[in-house]
Amino acid sequence: MTDRDIPLSEAGGILTVDLSALSANYQELSRRAAPAACAAVVKGDAYGIGLTRAAPALWQAGARSFFVALLAEARQLRGLLPEAEIFVLNGLFPGTEAAYREQALRPVLGSADQVERWSAFCADIGEGLPAALHVDTGMNRLGLTPAEAVNVAEGRDELGFPLVLVMSHLACADEPDHPLNARQLEDFRAIAALFPDVRASLANSAGALGDPAYHFDLVRPGIAVYGGRPRKDVAPLRPVVRLELRVVQLRRVHEGETVGYGGAHTALRPSRVAILSAGYADGIPRLAGASDLRPGAEAVIAGHRCPLIGRISMDLLAVDVTEVAEDNIQPGDFATLLGDGLSLDDLARHSHTIDYEILTSLGRRYHRRWV
Ligand SMILES: *Cc1c(COP(=O)(O)O)cnc(C)c1O
Repeated sequence: MTDRDIPLSEAGGILTVDLSALSANYQELSRRAAPAACAAVVKGDAYGIGLTRAAPALWQAGARSFFVALLAEARQLRGLLPEAEIFVLNGLFPGTEAAYREQALRPVLGSADQVERWSAFCADIGEGLPAALHVDTGMNRLGLTPAEAVNVAEGRDELGFPLVLVMSHLACADEPDHPLNARQLEDFRAIAALFPDVRASLANSAGALGDPAYHFDLVRPGIAVYGGRPRKDVAPLRPVVRLELRVVQLRRVHEGETVGYGGAHTALRPSRVAILSAGYADGIPRLAGASDLRPGAEAVIAGHRCPLIGRISMDLLAVDVTEVAEDNIQPGDFATLLGDGLSLDDLARHSHTIDYEILTSLGRRYHRRWV
């Protein structure tokens, strides 16, 4: 969560975050969710792009409710947004109750034990502090069972605090035809009906971009706000992140020579290779690399799509630039890994992972730019 500033002259790469795209994406999601309200999920340092800049931009764009995973994230967010409604998804850890009160944060109570502890804390201080209730409808991760939710509903008068949100989470929203979606929807309807005066929330990005039956009172998009692609049948919103890596050296490789650790890439022709100053320590997955048996990701240099070759090192990677005219590339230039037609989704697919992991792994050694 640091915002260390690395000067451009020293950095191995430039990470450009487009805050206007971020705001536009939030507003587009709000528009599609209406009449439901639209929260913003900003856990994981705002999915890696940087909470300190993302949160004020989202507030400016109209977001008023925010979700983080951990108390430490909530505290940082409170420092940035004194008036926001802040929910902490991972639930109430024992001994943290007072911190919620101090910062006016709302725990998302995810078990009967957490509900009891919040009740007891509120009774102790003689003050009913608002909280959310998470009910599990099939994810089997966090949340009370539906039977426990019934108990809470029947004992509402003795809770000693106001419930301001009842929520659940979809396990398969990225696969619209998965039968679990309809089952979770039906079960959540029954649960929301137990709390008719409380706002209800079920949908993440994939849910918010689909059937309005899933929207209820509040949607909770994360990845779509950051330009990711939560479902294949809906085009991603505007890209928010651009990543360019510095060319440190250019070299010639003879036919039959190998490149990088393990000799995993063999040159099949006399080649020119650009060495870029970033690697897996910067969040570029090792699986984005290539071998003689398997292609990897691509980078754009002087308008050409160039394949990554060989294994990705901790701080370096290699790109075949044989197709780029010699005059069009020199040390100090930058190669684009995200942007210029290369999407988060492309890099994720080549790396056998998802755009969420690419974003939240983005390194701390880049020169960061905000536009
Ligand atoms: C992370 C998270 C979200 C946001 O999910 P996206 O797929 O990024 O939109 C919403 N709700 C819960 C409970 C989450 O953990």
